Amino acid sequence: MQLNVPYRFAIAMFREDGAEVGTVLAKRDWEPVADWTRFYYQRRGALPLAESGSASILPLWERTLGEPYCRGYCVQIEQPDRQPVTSDFPNTHFRDFASSAASVYVEQKKLRAGEYYTYMVLAHPAQPGGAAAGGLSVIDASPSLPAHDGSLEAFLAKATPSGVIDRADMPVFVRNQVLEDASALTHQHQGTEVGGILIGKLWRDEAVGEIFAEITAQITAEHTMGTNVKLTFTADTWAAADAALRLRNRGEIPLGFVHSHPVREWCSGKACTLEAQKTCHLAKDFFSEDDEAVMRAAFPRAYSVAIVANDTAFAELTFSMFGNREGLTKPRGFYFMEGDTSGT
Ligand SMILES: [Zn+2]
Repeated sequence: MQLNVPYRFAIAMFREDGAEVGTVLAKRDWEPVADWTRFYYQRRGALPLAESGSASILPLWERTLGEPYCRGYCVQIEQPDRQPVTSDFPNTHFRDFASSAASVYVEQKKLRAGEYYTYMVLAHPAQPGGAAAGGLSVIDASPSLPAHDGSLEAFLAKATPSGVIDRADMPVFVRNQVLEDASALTHQHQGTEVGGILIGKLWRDEAVGEIFAEITAQITAEHTMGTNVKLTFTADTWAAADAALRLRNRGEIPLGFVHSHPVREWCSGKACTLEAQKTCHLAKDFFSEDDEAVMRAAFPRAYSVAIVANDTAFAELTFSMFGNREGLTKPRGFYFMEGDTSGT
């Protein structure tokens, strides 16, 4: 898929009294939001599974101020002989970038720490032919989505929801055995981050217009390097996962990764009380910058998910799932599933 970014987006930052602090070019990784959009329309049957049309990131102009001020941006995907499909996104997608820009302004003493600010998003056409300026990049040719035909209803009949299910997310079914294996591994290596690669299948229910994932197993990452704060997948981990996939020979693919968060260890290191741990943001739905980096580098598909086993000192092990929602990695719900299913 080709990704065109014919505009340069920038953030203009203002103080509470309206005085401008400065303007910075917004550097963003546009692939997750382009991939999410493409997959969204593939799920709904509006784009073929072998979709290869080019995607563009375009500004949505502010309705009263007009160009160059944006009210958001859109991803537009071309398809031959048909109208392009588009998804609109709000300026809040630039919030993280604005907050790091604000930290830089604080360092430069242009803004006081904790000072209130607002920002506007601007876009200017990138110089045609200007290589460094946004321009055009080619994402590795993504092969057709390897989806099998199955019935969503048949899966739902055997499933129990966990967490908040958002109907806009791709449904994900996790076999209980996967979580039992992850629990055993976590307890066995208590205090250290351990994990594995999640494998399974993508299913397509054409009648309801949905693609969903079934996580069938986790391949323990024997060769990972785990400390109490970080887990790294090595080349040996990948070789072992490849070998296991071939040996199982069930048409499974990597769908993401699972790893533990030894919260009890993190908290004991900081001498947190048990009571403080209960409300600690690390105890549930916490995805670190390192986790985000693993996701982006190793599991960058719009359907990739991550499971975190939250090992706290005050409760039984719980599981959080994360996935790409509108281009951003967010906590999301999933379904537990007993036993086997034919998927029909
Ligand atoms: Zn983590």
